[in-house]
Amino acid sequence: MSTARDSRKADQREGRHRCEECGSVHVKWLGRCPRCGAWATLVPVSDGADGRKAVVEPITQIQGSDALARPTGIREFDRVLGKGLVAGSVVLLAGEPGVGKSTLLLETAKQWAFAGRRCLYVSGEESPAQARGRAERIGAMHDGVLFTAETRLEAILASCVELKPELVVVDSVQMLRSTGEASGAISQIQEAVRRFSALAKALDISVVLIGHVTKDGEIAGPRFLEHLVDVVLTFSGEQHSRLRLLRGVKNRFGPSDEVGCFEQTEHGISAVADPGSFLLGRREHPVVGSAGTVVMHGRRPLLGEVQALVAPAARGPRTVVSGLRSDRVAKIVGVLSARCGLDLRDKDVYLSTVGGMSMHEPSADLAIALAIAGAASGEALPLGLVAFGEVALTGEVVAVSATEQRLAEAARLGRTSAIIPAGEDLKPGAGKSVAGLDLVPVSTTGAALRRLSSLAALGGASRGGLDIVA
Ligand SMILES: [Zn+2]
Repeated sequence: MSTARDSRKADQREGRHRCEECGSVHVKWLGRCPRCGAWATLVPVSDGADGRKAVVEPITQIQGSDALARPTGIREFDRVLGKGLVAGSVVLLAGEPGVGKSTLLLETAKQWAFAGRRCLYVSGEESPAQARGRAERIGAMHDGVLFTAETRLEAILASCVELKPELVVVDSVQMLRSTGEASGAISQIQEAVRRFSALAKALDISVVLIGHVTKDGEIAGPRFLEHLVDVVLTFSGEQHSRLRLLRGVKNRFGPSDEVGCFEQTEHGISAVADPGSFLLGRREHPVVGSAGTVVMHGRRPLLGEVQALVAPAARGPRTVVSGLRSDRVAKIVGVLSARCGLDLRDKDVYLSTVGGMSMHEPSADLAIALAIAGAASGEALPLGLVAFGEVALTGEVVAVSATEQRLAEAARLGRTSAIIPAGEDLKPGAGKSVAGLDLVPVSTTGAALRRLSSLAALGGASRGGLDIVA
């Protein structure tokens, strides 16, 4: 730790501070206001009336947030945070109840404790006995993990001032109560977040607040608290899947669009470094109606798979989708019929993504088209093939973003060939990152379909770059 920073921190605690609760002024920062007894209510007086000068230092002497970040010990968590939890900062972790927010943070508390740091875990959701049971299940039995089931804000702040744990986890902001008031009101939650923010800065500790997001109300969702905290993360699960995605929404210390992957198990939560093979497993033989693709979740490429089933329609033709946007699928079914000669008029088309992964990106279009065409023709795509590209109404395949990252991820996970939009200008050197991948550039959907040998005759005459069935 830098002495310059330590002295600046100490300097910030010196000087006049006013209590936001009662308005009394004190000569230095105190954890508790001597006049009204409130905890963590003192803020620096910034009117200059005390004759103190602003703290000025050469920009080269100021420590960057990287140096202040303390790794959580969970690589996928650190990836989303940037480097780790930054001292003096507040993180809001938002997500639906039951998705695994508490488990992730108890795992973090465990990692910190075993690294010799103390973590105070405040839970209004669990009894101490329940918390102990969960800690036993995930192997977090360590004296550095401190627990309280306290819900009174003042009492929690008082304990933080006394114990100065390096990390405070509040599970959840909804359960905090101020004296004499019921918990859960927006204004009260906001006030609590302000107090924790002041506390984090004064004590140079990290605070992580859990916020439950409910489907209807979004009560303590990021929107109401985003401006009060330094980092906002969302934790979400895919339906019928053990995969959990941690996404950055706001991050003052790093990229705000990183994604971390986790797996929820009975022993807690673990980072998934290789979500592609986690989702897809290992497959020995090609399967009819399946098409691999790579979608971007924020900055992160994820290997996924689209599966299609085409069956005779009992009544009118229907399209049933899961994990995909139905309007995009309807458009692709239209293009396959009108431009590629694939007759789906009396067919039901079922489509889903493996692992319940959501693929709302247009880049999944080409894989959707290939999965449907493969299912309709009864022919499997080659094992190890991925395809991505947007399908236009004209049937043309349009370039998408992040081609190189997608190809690199496919290669890393052992895929062997990729159908990609033609005309992609791959940067020099990209050849290295896509080593071993056999690239098949296509300009039309019909051209992609001809990779399926039984469909080679489909697509009809090609006029002006478009596959048009006369
Ligand atoms: Zn006071």
